[in-house]
Amino acid sequence: MGMGGRGMGIGGFLVLLVLSLVFHRNLFTLISGDVASDGVAASAPPSDSAQDPQVQFVSFVLDDVQATWQNLLPAESGTQYRHAKLVLFRDWIDSACGQAESATGPFYCPDDEKVYLDLGFFNELKSRFGAPGEFAQAYVIAHEIGHHVQKMLGIEGKVQRMRASNPSQANPLSVRLELQADCFAGVWAKSTEQRKIIDQSDVEAGMRAAAAVGDDRLQKMATGRVSPESFTHGSSRERTQWFQSGLNSGRMSACDTFAAAR
Ligand SMILES: [Zn+2]
Repeated sequence: MGMGGRGMGIGGFLVLLVLSLVFHRNLFTLISGDVASDGVAASAPPSDSAQDPQVQFVSFVLDDVQATWQNLLPAESGTQYRHAKLVLFRDWIDSACGQAESATGPFYCPDDEKVYLDLGFFNELKSRFGAPGEFAQAYVIAHEIGHHVQKMLGIEGKVQRMRASNPSQANPLSVRLELQADCFAGVWAKSTEQRKIIDQSDVEAGMRAAAAVGDDRLQKMATGRVSPESFTHGSSRERTQWFQSGLNSGRMSACDTFAAAR
């Protein structure tokens, strides 16, 4: 299960997460029931979803990303972190941001503070990109939680108001918001690197896959339905650069995409 046979790979990632988390909570209760204590809600899941390795993987990553922000956000910004919830779905789902379908791709809805993930999207990531897709999945989750962090910080609301009052800047503003979420994902990745869970080659492979799939998904998005991610995310190069910026420093201060010249 290694990532090209180098580093610990995502298999080791999982094992470590299990070892590090299992003493704090019962992982297998996370995803049972409609809304589990740790915020994973499964919408019309297959009956055995709790045993689905993919659902387990998503839950582990979500926990790890949120635990990282729970420490980092108060320390670096004086803001308390509030846990986002995760909604797994297939085909379509109603969110506070409107109806989403699988073609929408993963998204974060600031109105209900939930991350919506279509498991079919992850299947596609995996089948098209093989092992690196597993880091790509982790990256997608970290990126969406990055949007949640932006909401906690008031950045998301501010950008929405700026977009409304200055429509000609709407797209560039959205790009900066997206790139910052990539950078926040990098900040999380730094913590996994420090814990020797992943190495640089994992990150690079995963980032390439995520960027490629992201662009591809954008073109497939349906119009007229909720698609908060339908604006431009920036080029793959920009996305990688900002992810790297968060990864190199491990600090939120490296993620001021709004101040940076592009
Ligand atoms: Zn995004």
